[in-house]
This record gives sequence, structure tokens and C-alpha cells, in this order.
Amino acid sequence: MVADNLRQVQKNIEKACLTVGRDPAEVTLIAVSKTKPVPLLQEAYEAGARCFGENKVQEIMDKYPLLPSDIRWHMIGHLQRNKVKYIVDKAAMIHSVDSLRLAQTIEQEAAKRGVRVPVLFEVNVAQEETKFGLKTEEVLPLVQAVAEFPHVEIRGLMTIAPYVNNPEDNRGIFRELKKLSVDIAAKNINNVTMSVLSMGMTGDYEVAVQEGATMVRVGTGIFGERDYLR
Ligand SMILES: *Cc1c(COP(=O)(O)O)cnc(C)c1O
Repeated sequence: MVADNLRQVQKNIEKACLTVGRDPAEVTLIAVSKTKPVPLLQEAYEAGARCFGENKVQEIMDKYPLLPSDIRWHMIGHLQRNKVKYIVDKAAMIHSVDSLRLAQTIEQEAAKRGVRVPVLFEVNVAQEETKFGLKTEEVLPLVQAVAEFPHVEIRGLMTIAPYVNNPEDNRGIFRELKKLSVDIAAKNINNVTMSVLSMGMTGDYEVAVQEGATMVRVGTGIFGERDYLR
């Protein structure tokens, strides 16, 4: 099941790339495994998945020692500052940086452990009140401030688009995030690359790929519906 789903999602990414002349190798699939048990992650691993996405620190901590060490764990959920210390040396990338205070904490904890942490800034492009993330106009000033931090590597931007029935409804949001990343890249800020655009989920990842996503975060499409009541 999981293996078939994974292959199907990969095929769909390839197809979406072909429609716009992109190389599928530019797009990394993150298997979003939140709430899912370790045997299902193992199945995805055996089918070739190496990047997993989780939205809770505790869940990364629990799963990390039980699965192969070449897995790259992506922290994609809202991150509380008091929990940064637990994952700063476990997360391959933190997608959800949305304040200077959080970036400062990541800098401090990374310095303590002598690591450099790749991060993305989360942008609430759709300006949904229920979501975390920066306003579009807040991103550049924050990038400029955090660029000075020696243990934080700014790699790009992330957004969580609204839940929609028609993925075309999110195309404008993906375009806007891409435009913002191009504008910031053009400033040539030291220690900053805008090489990663993390956008697109089960309902809309193909549109996101067409609009320039370099990482898509797919959960349901690989592991099936989540059961939060368990
Ligand atoms: C849960 C989650 C996803 C995956 O959502 P699906 O619709 O199941 O693919 C992607 N990104 C973030 C930030 C999430 O929390």
C-alpha cells in the first residue's frame, strides 16, 4: 500500500515537472508521517523514502532512534522555543521559522552543539488567521537579521496553503511564494540562499510543482488518512 502510494506520488511529481519543463530531480518528496506508526514509516523507507516530515518534537524524538540513521527528518510544524534543544541536532531542516525569537533560540542551541541548522521561513501567504507564519512584508527584514547568525543557514521559504477542493485555487499562493523567494534571492544577501521552496501537500502538490516547489510535503497521499482520535 504505502510503497504503491509512494510510487504513484513520485510519478505524479514527474508528470507535473514534464508539463512545465522542470527536471524531476529538482523536487524532493517529503513523506509526512505525523501520527503514523513506525512500521508504516519502515515500509516507506524500504520503498525508497529518505525524507520524513513530522510536526511534533516529541514524535521526532520517539521515532528517531527506531528508524535507520540515513533518514532526513524535516520539522514542518509550529516549533516552541523551549523544545528547540531536543531537535536541533536531529532535524535535517526546520521549515517553520516564523519569528526572530525562534531563530535566536535555534542559533543558541545549535552553537551549543556545534552544528549548523538549515531553516526555511514559514510565510502565511494566504493571511489565514488560524495559521502561523510571517506576513509577506515581514520576510525580508527577518532574513536580513538572521543572515548574521553563524549557526543558522537560511535555505528558502515554506508555506501551508489553505485547504481547498480545487488545487487550482492555490496556484496564486504558490506563485506569490515563488516571487517572494526570487525577490529575496536577487538581494544577494551573504549566507542566504533561496534554493528551497517547500510548498504543496496531498491536495495540491502537482500545482505547487508546476509553480516551482523544490520540496513537497505529502502525508495522506502516501500513508492514508490520519486518525487523530487514536
Ligand atoms: C500534515 C502536514 C502536511 C501533509 O498534509 P497532507 O494533506 O496529509 O498531505 C504537510 N505540511 C504540513 C506543515 C503538515 O502539517
